[in-house]
Amino acid sequence: MIIQLKEDVTSKEKEQIISKAEALSFHITEVKTQEHIYLVGVGKGDIDPRSLGHMKGIQDLHRVSDDYKLVSRKWRINPTQIDLGNQIKIGEGEFTIMSGPCSIESEEQIVAIIDHLKQNNIKIMRGGVFKPRSSPYSFRGNGIDGLKTWYKYAKEAGIKIISEVMQVSQIEPMYDYVDIYQVGARNTQNFNLLDELGKVDKPVLIKRGISGTVDELLYSAEYVFSAGNERLMLCERGIRTYERSSRNTLDINAIPILKEKSHLPVIADPSHAIGIRRHVPSVALACVIAGADGIIYESHYSPEEALSDGQQTLNFKESNQLINQMRATFDLRKSFGN
Ligand code: PEP
Ligand code: MN
Repeated sequence: MIIQLKEDVTSKEKEQIISKAEALSFHITEVKTQEHIYLVGVGKGDIDPRSLGHMKGIQDLHRVSDDYKLVSRKWRINPTQIDLGNQIKIGEGEFTIMSGPCSIESEEQIVAIIDHLKQNNIKIMRGGVFKPRSSPYSFRGNGIDGLKTWYKYAKEAGIKIISEVMQVSQIEPMYDYVDIYQVGARNTQNFNLLDELGKVDKPVLIKRGISGTVDELLYSAEYVFSAGNERLMLCERGIRTYERSSRNTLDINAIPILKEKSHLPVIADPSHAIGIRRHVPSVALACVIAGADGIIYESHYSPEEALSDGQQTLNFKESNQLINQMRATFDLRKSFGN
């Protein structure tokens, strides 16, 4: 059960609602987000809305039987749309492309990629400055200095930045230079990081854990939401299975399932899913047809020279083609009414 409280609810009204809900055997957690105040009730039984709904201070009362609550589709009829400003919106009828290198490497690379994005009217650039690498001897990113250089050029070009935050201590130094924080697959269940991102007033994209289930991804989003931040996106990026012929196994099923279970936008990452450059475009298009609200993929002017993930990164020619195909595929999907 989710009780949305009126913004001007008094503490007395709130106490009365909580006592009544507890008497009905609900365990109540108060959630104050940057936008609203909720009481989230977890209980075994169902609730008859008439038993509580009339109480003063209540804006709305929703029955949500899912174990995750605030990210559930059950109580929000309209999907969430995230507004990044400058008419850049994610979710609910929009199709968003985010592209850029695996890692931010140099000024020359930043300028070339921004130019490529601008030519294609892409408004969000991805790139890592803190890289979670399997081997400690691999390139681990250019850190905050790399992010600052990137920001300088991106701001000039009107391009928004999405970049991975690996730990709590990076949130604050990154804050002025990112538009979306990305939680990587290795950190999906870093609950301290999720809690802290709940306190930040910038959107967060949460990737599915390497061996994570769909429900675990939803619980991770529930952490951030219940800690205060409603501006979230979910990302399917492939999971580890017994299959070794590709980097990961894209769970295409997760796209329609997440969209059905949650009101949050769903983004797909074909690059990390398949990990093979020549197959990234067809997998990306499949994700568009499956209902993704956006695609995040890796591009570079010279993937062969990339310091990380070159094997799955598109060059600009391939990227140009994919962008056109994704837009055409999205239009086709819309023509089906999906
Ligand atoms: C990335 O986006 O470069 C990345 C490391 O992704 P993931 O967390 O999905 O592996
Ligand atoms: Mn990568």
